Amino acid sequence: HTVLGIESSCDETAIALVTSDREILAQRIASQEAEHAPYGGVVPEIAARAHAERLAPMLYAVMEDAGLGLDQIDAVAATAGPGLIGGVMVGLVSAKALAMAADKPLIAVNHLEGHALSPRLADPALGFPYLLLLVSGGHCQVLGVAGVGRYRRLATTIDDALGEAFDKTAKILGLGYPGGPAVEKLAREGDPHAVPLPRPMKGSSEPHFSFAGLKSAVLRAHDSGEYASADIAASFQQAAVECLLDRLDKVLSREGEFPALVVAGGVAANARVRGALETFAASRGMTFSAPPMALCTDNAAMIAWAGCEKLAIDPDFAGDPLDIKARPRWPLDPEAEAVRGAGV
Ligand code: ATP
Ligand code: MG
Ligand code: FE
Repeated sequence: HTVLGIESSCDETAIALVTSDREILAQRIASQEAEHAPYGGVVPEIAARAHAERLAPMLYAVMEDAGLGLDQIDAVAATAGPGLIGGVMVGLVSAKALAMAADKPLIAVNHLEGHALSPRLADPALGFPYLLLLVSGGHCQVLGVAGVGRYRRLATTIDDALGEAFDKTAKILGLGYPGGPAVEKLAREGDPHAVPLPRPMKGSSEPHFSFAGLKSAVLRAHDSGEYASADIAASFQQAAVECLLDRLDKVLSREGEFPALVVAGGVAANARVRGALETFAASRGMTFSAPPMALCTDNAAMIAWAGCEKLAIDPDFAGDPLDIKARPRWPLDPEAEAVRGAGV
């Protein structure tokens, strides 16, 4: 199959053409960093307008890059949520129009499922099941992935996502937006043990994450004037990594063994995080898989790939209804989300 993918849930406008043979025929990504930077974060209205302006010309460009016509694709996949609703609507309505015009099935993709399956696009050896650490701007979860569409949430954050903590740390240290890559860069020059920072939830019998307290401690350390920014960045990253490993350890002790540990989402682009997870996996006899950097942060190849995966398990799939709605919230494991004990 050849699937066209559209991603517009946050501040990346992205289009890609991907085949079931894991070939990315063409892809374009337009970041809106410049538009949002003056505000220190993503402004939803600005994002929606920018998506609307860029999508059509980018679509023509991708089709031309690949040398394909719409009649040569098998389906149109688009992020239908979760995300900033205005942007999601722009991408989804474009996909609907294309699907209708080309008479191809529409595949409404959960953005988180795009992240969750992205490691399989890059790694043909990665089969099911796997233990997935999904660490992005809006989510910090551990999921048991049994197959396409079969996700069990085993842990989640009770407050901030890890990407959010990176972004807030960057803001506190005056590194601007987006923060993750800037914190990582500065951390390379710092001492990861210079600043005493908490490891929230460490040792807790519940498997969940918490990062709000870590962010507050970063703010206090910065305001104290006692520490160099590079040391704060390095110590923050160190604390975050230790939290991840402690929580994964807890999940494994509860859930038993998994053959593979997989990381996905924007924070998976962090070399320190990847390295620590790889070592952790090896110590547990698990294989380790992480998508290449460009597939960690938001992109359309992962959305097109999720479409390929859906067609692979159901080749006769006629497509989602053309009146399907964009969803600001859309959990991968609705059952776990329904039981929101203690705020999780
Ligand atoms: P979600 O997928 O939960 O809806 P999102 O789509 O906004 O959220 P992603 O694009 O997957 O999130 O990831 C963006 C996040 O990843 C940001 O918070 C960013 O700071 C973080 N990030 C990106 N690169 C790095 C890095 N090198 N180190 C740490 N964090 C990073
Ligand atoms: Mg982004
Ligand atoms: Fe994302």
